[in-house]
Amino acid sequence: MTTEPFPRLWPSVEVAALPSRRWVECANCIENTSLDDGRTDPQEWAVRHAALHPHHVRYRVVSQVGFCLDPA
Ligand SMILES: [Zn+2]
Repeated sequence: MTTEPFPRLWPSVEVAALPSRRWVECANCIENTSLDDGRTDPQEWAVRHAALHPHHVRYRVVSQVGFCLDPA
């Protein structure tokens, strides 16, 4: 796995083959936690967050793949 957040995308490399990050975040305050460890349940995290912030009721799971293009 590369540590480069925007690895160069070559014709021989497809986006689906690049590393991705997933997290769950509160849509009200953008507080979030990573899901990459495979142990965090996004719904359970949201319930705990809502217990601390009762008006924060909207959440989303985000998956991100960064890449860059060769300008040539
Ligand atoms: Zn929140």
